[in-house]
Amino acid sequence: MAKLSIRDLQLQGRRTFVRVDFNVPIKNGVITDDTRIRATLPTLQFALDAGALPIVASHLGRPKGTRNMEYSLGPVAARLSELLNRKVIFATDCIGQPVADAIEQARKENGLVLLENLRFYPQEEKNDPEFSKQLAQHADEYVDDAFGAAHRAHASVEGMTHSFAKPAAGLLMEQEIKYLGHALESPERPFVAILGGAKVSDKLEVIENMLGKVDRLIIGGAMAYTFMKSRGIPTGKSLVEEDKIDAAKTISADAAARGVELALPIDHVVTTAISAEAPYEVLAMDDPSIGDRMGVDIGPKTIEKYAALLSDARTVVWNGPMGVFEIPAFANGTNALAKAVAAVQGTTIVGGGDSISALKKSGMADRVTHISTGGGASLEFLGGRTLPGVAALKDK
Ligand code: AMP
Repeated sequence: MAKLSIRDLQLQGRRTFVRVDFNVPIKNGVITDDTRIRATLPTLQFALDAGALPIVASHLGRPKGTRNMEYSLGPVAARLSELLNRKVIFATDCIGQPVADAIEQARKENGLVLLENLRFYPQEEKNDPEFSKQLAQHADEYVDDAFGAAHRAHASVEGMTHSFAKPAAGLLMEQEIKYLGHALESPERPFVAILGGAKVSDKLEVIENMLGKVDRLIIGGAMAYTFMKSRGIPTGKSLVEEDKIDAAKTISADAAARGVELALPIDHVVTTAISAEAPYEVLAMDDPSIGDRMGVDIGPKTIEKYAALLSDARTVVWNGPMGVFEIPAFANGTNALAKAVAAVQGTTIVGGGDSISALKKSGMADRVTHISTGGGASLEFLGGRTLPGVAALKDK
């Protein structure tokens, strides 16, 4: 499992391709949240201190393989330069002459290079071999610090690594592999996983794999309703994935057979519409008076039950909100869970944008062991899947 790290490379004078995740929200050319840029600073600073010339590359949004300037990484170059206090030369393309020119200039000005959006080329997501070679062409070393993209076999995370003798993990990637790898291989017990959010289909495979690893599995969010329906409990207009009802049944049976406690909500907040103005009330989960209303948060009794299931936990993995936490009236479950996770005496790992923002909102972000930058990637990793971007790195 141990992978070569940037710390194992000789970087003096080396042009070092660093794949990062700068997929930041940008509104009218202004970056509204630079967390992902800040997260890579230790790796970039390390490379600079070691005498490397970093060639930084990322995707941004979904330009669908076209040069759509709405998704240009240009604004990121300025922000990165401020944060690193170094000259950042922006290459207007991610391959070809503009890259060579930017490297030349960065060398003269003792700076680093940021490439334009990798996804301006459809070949990136297709993991095209020729494109991979073009990306690799200007670099001597390869470092991957984009854990959030590691579950996709794209040219910049998989294909191009074959052109290097020692593709290595950046410091952020190294942390992810360390904490998630530990939870996967030798977790302190009880090991509790909490899965929420809207879509069961996204998380089904993960749930199945995790049943073999955890002692308790807590389900919240809209995901709970597919399980409720599979048990004949009235769900009103709550989000149910009809084609996953059988899968939910199988998971329930598997959990029972393995002695894993599958915890489902016992009460919930129901409302007529997902809106801050809609009237709402708490009902027991099996109360048929839900009628044609929908469940949007776990209720107070469920919060109590889940907090108790977490109180003696030694390893916790949390991904996905317990309700429609974007609306304050339906955020109680998610906020309470953030507090319960923060109070755990042990290793706590939180992944997924929604859970992270809930954690930050509740002021608990510095109380967890590890905030995983990759929601989907961390779930796939914890489900025991080999991530192409991790597999591509050289073993120690
Ligand atoms: P996911 O992308 O699958 O992690 O889902 C996150 C989304 O699930 C958030 O935007 C929540 O508002 C939504 N969500 C959580 N619980 C519910 C629920 N009971 N009904 C509808 N949406 C929900």
